Amino acid sequence: MLQIRNLKCYYGGIRALSGVSLSVSQGELVALIGANGAGKSTLLQAVCGLLPSWEGEIQFDGKSLTGLKPPAIVARGVSMVPEGRLIFPPLSVLDNLKLGAYLRSRQKDHAGVQQDLEKMLDLFPVLRERARQNAGTLSGGEQQMLAVGRALMANPRLLLLDEPSMGLAPLVVRKIFDTLTELRKTGLTILIVEQNAQAALEIADRGYVLETGRMVLAGEASQLLEDKEVKRAYLGKD
Ligand code: ATP
Repeated sequence: MLQIRNLKCYYGGIRALSGVSLSVSQGELVALIGANGAGKSTLLQAVCGLLPSWEGEIQFDGKSLTGLKPPAIVARGVSMVPEGRLIFPPLSVLDNLKLGAYLRSRQKDHAGVQQDLEKMLDLFPVLRERARQNAGTLSGGEQQMLAVGRALMANPRLLLLDEPSMGLAPLVVRKIFDTLTELRKTGLTILIVEQNAQAALEIADRGYVLETGRMVLAGEASQLLEDKEVKRAYLGKD
């Protein structure tokens, strides 16, 4: 479904990605792990059309995403939960969710949007309780659920998540990762970028390890969890 080949990204003179390749098949949950500054966010931003320029090839459903702006990429079926959630604090929870369906509303898919709004409030009951509350008053975990719900409101076939566990208590991380597992069972394809390698690899089918702009390892998630180097560098185990 997603094919990235030899992706190179630069910020001015700084090279953030040096020829990275990665693929995600339909229905898979794939984890991309790596330390701070490895280039994980850069890769997701390239897929979403948020970088001014990159080299290489990014294909979704066999078609190139080169030169497409973010709304066109969302329209193709790719939606992202950004790092730091980036919800709109002064807007209500409901309005934040509806913003995720902006393109669908413009296309007058009002019935579909309403139906998915209900789905999101079922998926995250706490959001139903807080539906009319300003999003800025939610806890960190609730804001992360809102960010996931908002991304899903675009009705994507590929969901990208950038560090969803960041700053959250272990129990909340569990809840969010359990939800991702549930979503995956419904057929959603997921690419998750995480520093919390343990949590991400536990729910993933396959994983990739990125180090300073290069892909250094790839394999079944269960194998990566047992890999000596991954254990030492990313799982804090001997
Ligand atoms: P983190 O987990 O800390 O978010 P990351 O793996 O997502 O790290 P990126 O944010 O993709 O890494 O950063 C990759 C490299 O590109 C880093 O060296 C970073 O300093 C650099 N970089 C990222 N964004 C910019 C920018 N807007 N301008 C200049 N350099 C940038």
